[in-house]
Amino acid sequence: MELFKSMESLHEDQEKDAKPDSSEKVRCIIIGSGPAGYTAAIYAARANLSPVLYEGLQPGGQLTTTTDVENFPGYPDGVSGPVMMEDLKKQAARFGTDIRWGLATAADLSARPYRITIDDRHLIEADTVIIATGATAKYLGMESEQKFMGHGVSACATCDGFFYKGMDVAVVGGGDSACEEALYLSGLCNKVYMIVRRNVFRASKILQERVLKTENIEVLFEHLPKEVVGDQNVDGVIVHNKKNGEDYKVEIQGFFLAIGHKPNSDIFAPYLDTDDVGYIQTTPGTSKTNLEGIFACGDVQDAHYRQAVTAAGSGCMAAIDAERYLSEKGL
Ligand code: NAP
Repeated sequence: MELFKSMESLHEDQEKDAKPDSSEKVRCIIIGSGPAGYTAAIYAARANLSPVLYEGLQPGGQLTTTTDVENFPGYPDGVSGPVMMEDLKKQAARFGTDIRWGLATAADLSARPYRITIDDRHLIEADTVIIATGATAKYLGMESEQKFMGHGVSACATCDGFFYKGMDVAVVGGGDSACEEALYLSGLCNKVYMIVRRNVFRASKILQERVLKTENIEVLFEHLPKEVVGDQNVDGVIVHNKKNGEDYKVEIQGFFLAIGHKPNSDIFAPYLDTDDVGYIQTTPGTSKTNLEGIFACGDVQDAHYRQAVTAAGSGCMAAIDAERYLSEKGL
C-alpha cells in the first residue's frame, strides 16, 4: 500500500500528467494548495479517497507570501508561512495525495461525473470536487498601477519588499494585511507611508498599536491614492487629502497594495451559488455547495474569518463531507 509517497514519485506523476489531450477519472479532486486544500488532502488521503490535488498558480497559497504566522495554534514561537505550507504539503504527500503542478482552467459541473480541465489540456472526471482555490489580491484599478507593475507596484511586500531596501515606500489599506506589510517593510525600508482611506484602521488593535509605535511608519489617515507616477520606475504617488481637498505627491519608490482579496471562483460561478463578490455559498455548518458532490473550503467561501486555521478547519470538513457523500452513493 502506497502510504508514504516520495517527492520523486510526485515529480513522475507531474510529468505523466503533462501529456496533451489526456483524461482520467478520479474519486476526489482537490483544487488549491493553501491550508484548506492541504488539510482536505490529509483527511481525504487518510480516508482512502486517493485524492488528486492541483496546486494552482500560487503553490502553497497566500501564506507563502507571509512572513511569520503567529496565530496558528501549536506554534508557540510562530512559524514562517512558506515553512508551514511546505510542512502541510509533506503531510498531505505522506498519506498518498497525488500532488501536481497545474491550474484548473475550466469546469463543467452540469452533470456527474464533474469535469475539470487542467491547463487547458488535461481532463479530469471526478466524483467529488473540493474547491480550495482561495482568493487573490485586489488592485485599485488605476492605469498607472498596471503600467508600473513589477517596476515599483506590488501586492506582496514579503515577496518584493527586499527590492526596496533602504528606500521609501507606501502601503495602501488599513486592515491587518496592510499593517503587517507596513511592519515588515519598516524593517527593510527607510520610511513607510500607510495610505488609509478612513480616519481609523480596520486592523486588529495589536497590529494598530505596533504600527503606531514604529518610528519610520507614517500613517496618512483620510488619504486616497490618485495616481502612481514615475518614468521607468515609480518615483512617487499623488495622494488626495480628504480633510482639506488637496492633492500632493509623496516621494516613494515602492507602492504596495493591501486592500483585500477577490475569491477565485470564476470558473465555478456559472454553476454554484455565490454572493455578489463571488464567495461560494455553502450550507451553514458544512462545506456543501448547491451541487451534490461539490464542496468548498477556505477563503473562496469565507468572506468573514479568512484565517489559516479556519481555512484548515473547513478543509477538514470538506474531506469528511466528500467521504460521506462517496460512501452514501456507493462510489
Ligand atoms: P480587509 O480586512 O478587508 O482590509 C482592507 C483594507 O483596505 C481596509 O482598511 C479598507 O478600508 C481598505 N480598502 C479597501 N478598498 C480600498 C480602496 N479602494 N481604496 C483604499 N483603501 C481600500 O483585508 P485584509 O487586511 O487583507 O484582511 C483580510 C482578512 O484576513 C481579515 O479578516 C483579516 O483580519 C485577516 N488577516 C489577519 C491577519 C493576522 O491576524 N495576522 C493578517 C492578515 C489578514 P476600509 O476599512 O475603509 O474598508
